Amino acid sequence: MCGISSDVLTASYQAYLDQLTAAGILIPLGVKGLYGHSGVFEDVIERFERAVTRRGAHFKAEVMRFPAILNRQHYLKTNHIETFPDLMGSVHSFTGNERDHVQMLQKRERGEDWTRDLTPTEVMMTPAACYPLYPTATGTLPENGRTVDLRSFVFRHEPSIDPARMQIFRQREYVRLGTAEQALDHRNYWLKTGEEILNSVGLKVEAVVANDPFFGRGGRMMAVSQKEQVLKYELVIAIASSEKPTAITSCNCHLDHFGHSFGIKTADGQYAHSACVGFGLERIALALFKTHGFDPDHWPSDVRNVLEL
Ligand code: ZN
Repeated sequence: MCGISSDVLTASYQAYLDQLTAAGILIPLGVKGLYGHSGVFEDVIERFERAVTRRGAHFKAEVMRFPAILNRQHYLKTNHIETFPDLMGSVHSFTGNERDHVQMLQKRERGEDWTRDLTPTEVMMTPAACYPLYPTATGTLPENGRTVDLRSFVFRHEPSIDPARMQIFRQREYVRLGTAEQALDHRNYWLKTGEEILNSVGLKVEAVVANDPFFGRGGRMMAVSQKEQVLKYELVIAIASSEKPTAITSCNCHLDHFGHSFGIKTADGQYAHSACVGFGLERIALALFKTHGFDPDHWPSDVRNVLEL
């Protein structure tokens, strides 16, 4: 965040969060980045999604919906634990006997750490909407590959007062599984179309080559390679801070990473490539509120037309 003082950022995040809270759009839940949403907020998200669906209709994509928790073994087949260990969410529960239970309650009573008495379950929080798809796609793809329409809540452990940086939020995705060319075409189609959709609702986004915050020293090398290969674009716009714009949509080429990890092959026996577009629905709603105000009844008529308000 070259040159921007963190105090300035913090102040602008807090100011916008206070406005959203006062307007009842976000309902703070006592933990950074965790909110309830008003009916107006949800309505905006649903209407925006329908606008996306209309633009994606000609793909006749397979619609699939996966829960916000993911098979732990499937999680471990991705490289998320290497690249984003600090963002992961692991679900634990209590599996002890009655005596263990009493001990745990006593620890809690004494103000001690009782969470070490918990055991990991078979599930993790879903880190990206497309992750649950790949393990279901093992095997050989049809001749023309597959296009899949997904939406899921995803979890990222990055507590922040930036209202646009939530710990759990929805991604709406279109994923392409197929040849390298099909995947790249998909990524490029949605980079253009995503920008058009966002422009049509008054969001003047800018496309930038993404620089993911991969973890640690190995991660810095991955970030360089991601940037050099131009694998991922983000469509960014100012939400809470005009100095540090927020990515509201990303267009991502994974090469054959998931094809390899999950044994997904094209009809001619190559490891499948994949690409996805992900619309960050909460961030898009926040960008709409920031740009047009908190009352959709007063949004510009062309925006209201696109959203069928
Ligand atoms: Zn994805």
